[in-house]
Amino acid sequence: AKRDPKEKCVRFHDTMRLRRDENLALKKDMERAIEEDEFALYFQPIALTASSETVSAEALIRWLHPEKGLVPPDQFIPLAEDTGLINRIGAWVCRSVAQAQVRFRKRGFDISISMNVSPWQLSDPEFTALMMDLPDLYGCDPTKIILEITENVVLGEIPDALTALNELKIIGYSIVIDDFGTGYSNLAYLYNYPIDGIKIDRIFINDISNGGAIVKLILSLADALGATVVAEGVETIEQRDWLTENGCDRFQGYLYSKPVPEDRFLGFLESQAHI
Ligand code: C2E
Ligand code: CA
Ligand code: CA
Ligand code: CA
Repeated sequence: AKRDPKEKCVRFHDTMRLRRDENLALKKDMERAIEEDEFALYFQPIALTASSETVSAEALIRWLHPEKGLVPPDQFIPLAEDTGLINRIGAWVCRSVAQAQVRFRKRGFDISISMNVSPWQLSDPEFTALMMDLPDLYGCDPTKIILEITENVVLGEIPDALTALNELKIIGYSIVIDDFGTGYSNLAYLYNYPIDGIKIDRIFINDISNGGAIVKLILSLADALGATVVAEGVETIEQRDWLTENGCDRFQGYLYSKPVPEDRFLGFLESQAHI
């Protein structure tokens, strides 16, 4: 029997309402989590492709939910961005990365830390103000902090994004484009924005077994611009070796390490130092 199209329509609206109710509940839960300080940073090492020496780490947020357990960022960052809560969560990330950098240094590891910044944070004047205050507040070194900007929106449409990036550069932070080649990143940005580096998205790293034409293109582009490159999502030895041969110095991925809590990350660095 043929379905009544109206029935389908009703179900669609039910789904939409359910989604809206769920989002509202999630938003309230996130607000509570900010108050209760339920977030944590995990760290994933970034290493040299040739020697597997750790050169930096990416800080990745996790939500340690009292009932749901560990909630990955994909399940709450998009809604945080839609609702504006990203500014408060982002401020927590800024402070936490600054403090982590100082702790790492005290343990003898003066490495850079990458943090993820949502494009919308760039038009929040409190964000740049906080970034400016971090060295005085915590004693961190801005030249050892890298801001990874994902282009899930057109950067040109974010008010004052370019001004903010230029200010951040003056303080000493580095700027890299995350997930390069996906989203809305386009080549003009590379000329107009003060970019220090590029992270090649893992979909292109996955494609290396088919010849890696796009990775080669990105590498030569980065070379011409004098930008550093990190290959993301490296899962096999073949991929890492191909990257070494093709002049990509840095990689990140499960082949080397998953993101881990800070104590495990520092333990990992310590075990490396003793080799
Ligand atoms: P991203 O910045 O592209 O981070 C890399 C993601 O890839 C991480 O997922 C990481 O765990 C995962 N990954 C690393 N190596 C491999 C690999 O070899 N294979 C595979 N399949 N995956 C790998 P995670 O931690 O779940 O983060 C997801 C996204 O959430 C991040 O993507 C980033 O866009 C966002 N995010 C994470 N932390 C923050 C934050 O503090 N602030 C903001 N605004 N966004 C964040
Ligand atoms: Ca990132
Ligand atoms: Ca990425
Ligand atoms: Ca991503």
